[in-house]
Amino acid sequence: MNQILESAQQLIKQTAEQLHFNQKQIEKLLTPEQIHDFTLSIRLDNGTQKEFKGYRIQHNSKRGPYKGGVRFHPKVNSDEVLALATLMSIKTAVVGVPFGGAKGGVAVDPKTLSEKELEELSRAYVRAVYPFIGEEKDSLAPDVNTNSKIIGWMADEYIKAKSEELKTKNIDEKLKSRWRATFTGKPLDMGGSLGRSKATGRGGVIVLKELLNKLNLSKLSIAVQGFGNVGYYFADIASHEGLSVVAVSDSKGAVTGTQFLPLDIPLVMDCKKEKGYLAGCYCVGGVCDLRKGRQISNEEMLELPVDILVPSALENVINSQNMSKIKAKIIVEMANGPVTEEAYEYLAKKGVVIVPDVLANAGGVAVSYFEWLQNMQNEKWSEEKVNRELEELMSRAFTKIWERSITKKITLKQAAIETAIEGLFG
Ligand code: NAD
Repeated sequence: MNQILESAQQLIKQTAEQLHFNQKQIEKLLTPEQIHDFTLSIRLDNGTQKEFKGYRIQHNSKRGPYKGGVRFHPKVNSDEVLALATLMSIKTAVVGVPFGGAKGGVAVDPKTLSEKELEELSRAYVRAVYPFIGEEKDSLAPDVNTNSKIIGWMADEYIKAKSEELKTKNIDEKLKSRWRATFTGKPLDMGGSLGRSKATGRGGVIVLKELLNKLNLSKLSIAVQGFGNVGYYFADIASHEGLSVVAVSDSKGAVTGTQFLPLDIPLVMDCKKEKGYLAGCYCVGGVCDLRKGRQISNEEMLELPVDILVPSALENVINSQNMSKIKAKIIVEMANGPVTEEAYEYLAKKGVVIVPDVLANAGGVAVSYFEWLQNMQNEKWSEEKVNRELEELMSRAFTKIWERSITKKITLKQAAIETAIEGLFG
């Protein structure tokens, strides 16, 4: 069984038992409501047909329409999709958005397809799931290797199929806007929301600031692992909020300075774009002086003597091999599942405060909810309004989980899972 699925199911089971739910209720919580798997066949540029395995797993709809991304990756399989769908049910309940949980995917390496083939595959996926999705049934979003362009193709295909079903070409704009709510993370000109691309990083910073406030801490150093959508925006927004990001990394290595001076994050990004990699991009105080920084490995970066570690790349990077070498006192799980169960328990016992992924990285699904709302009401919110609503929602979710963890003397992860399970049975 997939490791994330096993630990998610184990955690839900244990927590539900502690909350005195009976076996029948627990079984219901672990079992997905619907599993759809299918084969997609597309014509390649060379004229041949190729088949791909596709999935949509709808885990729980107790709290509202299913919500979850679509992943294009060679390793996509039924267990992985179920694990991610289960985590979506937990995440939407943790932050209190009126959605259930689902996930989808196609087993494909998108880098081997041309843009035309990728578009064909995205449209074929929508035709396969068309009977099971809809703005009030199941709303899809981007995930690994699917971006707003792909979601745009998907939304377009859905609207085409909908118009064909209703046998009309003259669709009222309000109705079209509602149909578009079947997808979030769309391009802006197709009803996407302002603030969506930065939302996951921004949500993480909001939660971290709340935590520092509760712990009465300031002037702390931060290391961010991963410099993609989540890691970059987290680092950039944290810097704007006056926090000191002193080390960042990508798949090819990490950069930091001997004195832990705060990095100039936009300049580091410019340097990375220019060079094609991050190592050596030591930019501090408006200048990049590559000789003053230190180039370190990804492993070394996780073990730096910083106050806060923010894993924003891959799963299982803090594990039984390196847990005893972690020096940070706070970890914010921005990636999905970056700290294994064993490492979480070990570090929590040592007094490390770990903000769990289902809370820390829920800013994306929160703004997906705002996009869905805007589409359903045919409205367009300003970026300020989106950010204000996000701040309110994330702060509320954090406070609820923090208070529960203090009152019951349990970790933030246990408190988050308890809150979610109650929400799912509520
Ligand atoms: P991304 O592909 O944009 O960025 C990933 C980054 O991680 C890249 O900079 C890559 O170079 C780096 N990386 C890869 N291997 C690494 C390694 N060994 N050490 C250091 N860095 C490494 O992906 P993303 O959208 O930023 O997602 C990152 C994580 O956050 C994933 O776990 C994803 O599931 C999770 N997540 C993303 C969102 C979202 O809105 N994008 C929402 C919730 C959770």
